[in-house]
Amino acid sequence: MKSKVLLIYTGGTIGMMADAKSGQLKPFDFKHLTEQIPELNKFDIELSSVSFEKPIDSSDMQPSVWVELAKVIERNYNKVDGFVILHGSDTMSFTASVLSFMLENLNKPVILTGSQLPIGTIRTDGKENLITAIEIAGAKEKGKAIITEVCIYFEYKLYRGNRTHKFNAEHFNAFQSANYPVLAEAGVYIKYNYSALRKGDTKKLKTHLVLHPEIAILKLFPGITKKVVTAILNTKDVKGVILETFGSGNASTEGWFINEIKGAIEKGIIVLNVTQCNAGAVVQGKYATSSELKKIGVISGNDITTEAAITKLMFLFGNSNNTKAIEKGLRTDLRGEITV
Ligand code: ASP
Repeated sequence: MKSKVLLIYTGGTIGMMADAKSGQLKPFDFKHLTEQIPELNKFDIELSSVSFEKPIDSSDMQPSVWVELAKVIERNYNKVDGFVILHGSDTMSFTASVLSFMLENLNKPVILTGSQLPIGTIRTDGKENLITAIEIAGAKEKGKAIITEVCIYFEYKLYRGNRTHKFNAEHFNAFQSANYPVLAEAGVYIKYNYSALRKGDTKKLKTHLVLHPEIAILKLFPGITKKVVTAILNTKDVKGVILETFGSGNASTEGWFINEIKGAIEKGIIVLNVTQCNAGAVVQGKYATSSELKKIGVISGNDITTEAAITKLMFLFGNSNNTKAIEKGLRTDLRGEITV
């Protein structure tokens, strides 16, 4: 039996064309994509596709679009064996992260891919990315899907989506997953790293469609002023703040700074400590410069990426108003996003 894969086109460079007048890259109609890749018709996979009515550059991504995407997956979940989402690379890690939280008990592959060069250009990276992503989304062993999680496939590598970060704006190799191994590498064969894959769930898919967007990031830098810190922590309606700290979770020990954070926590804001480094983890208490944060109730983000931290907070606040439950969720590995 042929595998069935649903291709969901949201936009991004992969489906863009240069505007004849301005030369600027703009999304074009999805039907041009299949025209550009006739190979898609040769697959031993039954392909179907849906396109967002108005394809977007992924910098315009919004939580409401994530909800739409999750709904498309939910509606088609029992009809196909896997999904490929064509998406701009700029915010792909955010979308992959949020979908991992929204799709509980996922038992099928959801593979996001895109490209750095439009599919119509001669040196495009889009063709290989798309063709291999489809192959992975349709891949089965003993009748079961090999991949049962939300992933990004880019430049010969398959990553756990909620572990990724776009680190390069011009190389084809644009993503990294510094704190988690690559799930598969494509060469002559697609080699899966079986021990790193999430085990499929036998429970029914549960789709979470409420996201709370009132989240802020407070990125520290030497010399940050009290005015800036106060403004961010007191932003109206903000419920969760990601404190992007130095190294293994360190921050200024100045009295005013600690007091501001402490005040926010006392008001009910959840403060999550995430490192500014691309690799490694927050270890609160390792240095004196993080002990105070631990004492006042800042939660350690461990080795989570900022992308996963933001979307995890949106998801947890969308599900609950209970501070203790949210804090517990943050400390728990829900979808393979942190090492515990
Ligand atoms: N700006 C584009 C986007 O994220 C870049 C890309 O597709 O790679 O939609």
